[in-house]
Amino acid sequence: MVMVASGYHWTPYKPVEAEDIRFLWDDVINRRRTIERNHFFEARLAFGVHTGVPIANPDDLFAAMDEYCRTEPVVALGETGITPAQHVQSWGLDEQRTVVGAQMELAADHDLPIILHTPNKRPADQPTYRPGVGTPGYEKNTNLTQDPVLTGENPSLEAVRMDIDIADQVGLPEDQIVASHADPNNVDFLLSETECYASFTLGYPWLTGVTAADVADAIDRYGPDRILVETDCANVLRTDVRSVKRAILELYRLGVDEDDIRQVVLTNPSAVFGFDY
Ligand SMILES: [Zn+2]
Repeated sequence: MVMVASGYHWTPYKPVEAEDIRFLWDDVINRRRTIERNHFFEARLAFGVHTGVPIANPDDLFAAMDEYCRTEPVVALGETGITPAQHVQSWGLDEQRTVVGAQMELAADHDLPIILHTPNKRPADQPTYRPGVGTPGYEKNTNLTQDPVLTGENPSLEAVRMDIDIADQVGLPEDQIVASHADPNNVDFLLSETECYASFTLGYPWLTGVTAADVADAIDRYGPDRILVETDCANVLRTDVRSVKRAILELYRLGVDEDDIRQVVLTNPSAVFGFDY
């Protein structure tokens, strides 16, 4: 298990500062051993600075992040990545670029993978809810969502393209990027135009529409070499902790080759994050 300490800070009660991010990082360090003992997971860590809300003084974080990257349980940076629309207060694209780029530089320096937060495109078949009530299943005051800072036709994909541009600019090899929340909107770009890994988040299909069928489809079209699956379990939204296990069975039922299933659920994640299997 990789515990990702990178808070989206949905609907924060006060402006988010560097020390709030440090609190999250230290919290996973302090709880890792207990979680391993109580849940029988081998737990490794990822640290990130998210761009879902502005952080007052993000530059205060990167020297500490550099130090944390030298510690043994840290296997990745992130998640992070350009976010098209923030909560409570917008964060300009230039500031976001700086924050994402600084983390990518550290990933390159430490030869660690970085987990990208790629924004999902809302599935067309979701119902439209009463304004301000929002989608059920997570703790977010949708009234506080700000106007997007990315306004093109497909801002979710545009954000990912910007992330890859930043990686290229700072010299981070694309095969050190794990693009989380892969979906039908970005998977073709990720697997045909980049060297990144595409990681399908299967823990909340009620929100994204992404299921094992999308994984099977991607394996069918691109092969299993750069595909992963994960739960992205978070206690701010309704997530299925067993979604990876369910996906193994579902991929089998969908007729995916057993070796390919093993590769996307176990071999690839183990190799990318340095687990010894
Ligand atoms: Zn994310």
